[in-house]
Amino acid sequence: MKLLAISLSASLLGAVAAAKPSEDIVRERLLGAAFLDNQSYDLLEKMTNLYGGRITGSESNEKSMQLLERALDENGIANHRELFTFPGWERREDSATLLHPLKRELRSIAMGYVDQHPTFAAELIYLGKGTPEEIPQNSQGKIGLLAANVKLSQDSIQAFATDNGIKGLLLTNRKNGGQLLARTANYSGDASPIPIYSVTEEEGHWLKRLVESGENPRIQLSTSSIVKDIECANLVATIPGKTSKKIVIGAHFDSWDLGQGALDNGLGIAQAFDIARLIHEINPDNHYTIEIVWFNAEEFGLFGSYAYMEQHQDDEIVAMINLDMVGNPIGANAMGFDSLLPALETFSKDLNGFALPKDVANAPWLGSDHMPFINQGIPSITLNAPIKAESVAYYHDFGDTFEKVDKEVLSKSVGILSLLAYQLANDPSLDRPRLTEQQTIELLKKAKLDEKMKTAKIWPFEEN
Ligand SMILES: [Zn+2]
Repeated sequence: MKLLAISLSASLLGAVAAAKPSEDIVRERLLGAAFLDNQSYDLLEKMTNLYGGRITGSESNEKSMQLLERALDENGIANHRELFTFPGWERREDSATLLHPLKRELRSIAMGYVDQHPTFAAELIYLGKGTPEEIPQNSQGKIGLLAANVKLSQDSIQAFATDNGIKGLLLTNRKNGGQLLARTANYSGDASPIPIYSVTEEEGHWLKRLVESGENPRIQLSTSSIVKDIECANLVATIPGKTSKKIVIGAHFDSWDLGQGALDNGLGIAQAFDIARLIHEINPDNHYTIEIVWFNAEEFGLFGSYAYMEQHQDDEIVAMINLDMVGNPIGANAMGFDSLLPALETFSKDLNGFALPKDVANAPWLGSDHMPFINQGIPSITLNAPIKAESVAYYHDFGDTFEKVDKEVLSKSVGILSLLAYQLANDPSLDRPRLTEQQTIELLKKAKLDEKMKTAKIWPFEEN
């Protein structure tokens, strides 16, 4: 009956209609092309080689985006920029120098939102994990050294500065090998009340020994980095569907500046590009519109995805897939949206030989571009997709470089993600209203994320 209807309408239109390929054929073609016609690997190699890390507001970020735009244009994929301005930060010449008992510039970097200040020197004290009991009595005017893996909330930084009068902080890195950890000091875009520097694990241990030996080490901090408004853009590619209701596939475009942002999140940039390309080429006619969005300024505090959500407040988004450091997919996460479970369970079992070994998770987590969507009650999906431990160790550091990217894993992930995008883009069960604000609050509370969000000052609801 279906065939008859197609040929009838085709002859009525006077056109020769090619029979729509069956779902199985589409799936086979998507998977095959992900391996045999991979272009994401070359794109990422070129981007990282030529431009390095893509910290938002930098020339590297702009040139990398132009490269991606050209690649989309060459493939005939409609794309446009959506501009926004956010309270950003620019790294300049900064230094943390040991002055006594010997003079030596430390291998260190200022954390994001550390604002320029007059150079000063002070005695170094050891603060352990920074709990009130560990802070020495006379900490006024001194620089504090923190152990590795201390969770610095905006409130705790404020408390170091105001309650204890500590003038600056050195944060010991969690990994050895001379690595540093670039990250933001807060998620609100405010200047940090005191300078905070990441130091290597080795120098952190050394400084601790100096404090403990009674040498009274002195440190000088000099910061010219500045907090300033930055104008930048999200890049949006569109594959129109039968309806304007849409699936958003998001990947943050920016990275930190130290390395090349090859894994974080060059992987997501590259995957999103090949997903867009393969679906555009193999099955451009889907039920929902597919919007692929490369968000900027994620590392500074998800500013791009918040800006997108603000600009698209009234769009009917039926689902969002967030690709942030997706390696080898072994499971999908419905992020607390029970309505997604049937679709994801079908998907992960039935994958043309690539069934995902882990059950579908349903546990939301914070800290990437799905958050603005979840806050609006939009069903969001992330992947359980590990990257090799020895590669992911370099996250946010100098060592996040292209040779860590595994082409085989990239191809496989593109295949699986393209199938997911294709399935969701044609799944009528997703067409339902967003969660209400109350339901969204319940989802976040059930996952015990409400307290964490309040501490980080990112709880968007009136209710406490
Ligand atoms: Zn990331």
